[in-house]
Amino acid sequence: MGVKVAKFGGSSVADTIQFTKVKDIILSDPSRRYVVVSAPGKRFDQDTKMTDLLLLCHTHLMNHLPWDQLFQVVCDRFSAIAFTLGISQDKLDLQAEYTKIKAAMEDGAGSDYIASRGEYLNGRLFAAYLGWDFIDAADVIKFDERGRFLADETNEVLKKELKKHEYAVIPGFYGAKPDGRIVTFSRGGSDISGSIVARAAEAEVYENWTDVNGFLMANPKIVDDPKPIKYISYQELRELSYMGANVMHEDAIYPVKAAGIPINIRNTNDPEHPGTFIQDETPEDSRGVITGVAGSKNFTVIAMHKYMMNSERGFMKRVFSILDSNDISFEHMPTGIDTLSVVLDNDEVGNKLPDIIDDIKRNLEPDALDVYDDIAMIATVGQGMTYRPGVAAKLFAALAEQGINIRMIDQGSSEINIIVGVAGSDFEKAIRAIYNAFN
Ligand code: ASP
Repeated sequence: MGVKVAKFGGSSVADTIQFTKVKDIILSDPSRRYVVVSAPGKRFDQDTKMTDLLLLCHTHLMNHLPWDQLFQVVCDRFSAIAFTLGISQDKLDLQAEYTKIKAAMEDGAGSDYIASRGEYLNGRLFAAYLGWDFIDAADVIKFDERGRFLADETNEVLKKELKKHEYAVIPGFYGAKPDGRIVTFSRGGSDISGSIVARAAEAEVYENWTDVNGFLMANPKIVDDPKPIKYISYQELRELSYMGANVMHEDAIYPVKAAGIPINIRNTNDPEHPGTFIQDETPEDSRGVITGVAGSKNFTVIAMHKYMMNSERGFMKRVFSILDSNDISFEHMPTGIDTLSVVLDNDEVGNKLPDIIDDIKRNLEPDALDVYDDIAMIATVGQGMTYRPGVAAKLFAALAEQGINIRMIDQGSSEINIIVGVAGSDFEKAIRAIYNAFN
């Protein structure tokens, strides 16, 4: 029997009701042998995530403000879950854990240590609830002295450790340096831990349980009831999540992708739903023309025109050095024989735009220069687009019908992606037009 690694996100383990749902899911399939948990997330809209509460305790402590009551809120939340699940003190001594954490904090433990305690305590709770072994991530997820994750060393250590446990719970989000000090991944990093465990367990699938039925073909806040995506390739996922369609941490892809393990995004609140499979190749008969459409606002496009640009030596090099000297990276750079557009993220641009424009005028002497500072970029993505004529025509016709002006077009060389730039005010209308054209 193959092994499944199941990671449960914050909303899946936010309270007692969620804990019981997760237990049912885990016990319904004995191949789910390794479970990775996040810290409790929000129970309702205005609620605070456990990790945020813990970080708030740290901020108070650092600023010499009283933090006892805040920490009590943390403890009460865990104690309430333990109590309602019937986990007695002899199974898990939470008071002793709280005392240890408090002492470490008073002793100057860093913010990573404190932030990680949400996952640590939740992992302990879950292991006690299931009656499974607990593996502390600090012993098996390795970072170097400078806090860089050590993938191969971790894989070796973790592989050995997992072999000792038939069933185990591992907290997500953190690991430790050689001296034992805790290091966390960036926020949302339990997804990465799950992926690392799946690789070490040589799992047949990495199940990532969350609160949505996987990926949808478009943002449901823009398109009414968009269709779910059953299969998506890693490459398609990368293109869509770059544009903001995100259900999991980007860095979680690599460990399982390299090991050829598919990811299955599932919904803890709708466990019968098959969710989305993310894998190298999607089954051909499951492919529509497009897999999804996503976009985001807040880009600047600098469009240059210069007669004979294509034969001017060093033109591109000068463009790059202007960006470099202004310390800015670019998002896209579509070119024609005499035209070049540079697409920049507005957060990166900040107040540097006038300097960049000056540099371009001085160093590149374009015949014409247009700057649009409120552009939305929309990516229409799909492996099914490859070698299929007429996709671009359909897309552009759909936008034209809605009276939407296209300011920029870029088709990646892989042909699985057409990116268009439109005015920020046309963003939602354009997404709907594209989605409707292909559905
Ligand atoms: N608890 C951490 C966070 O809120 C990590 C995670 O949930 O994946 O970012």
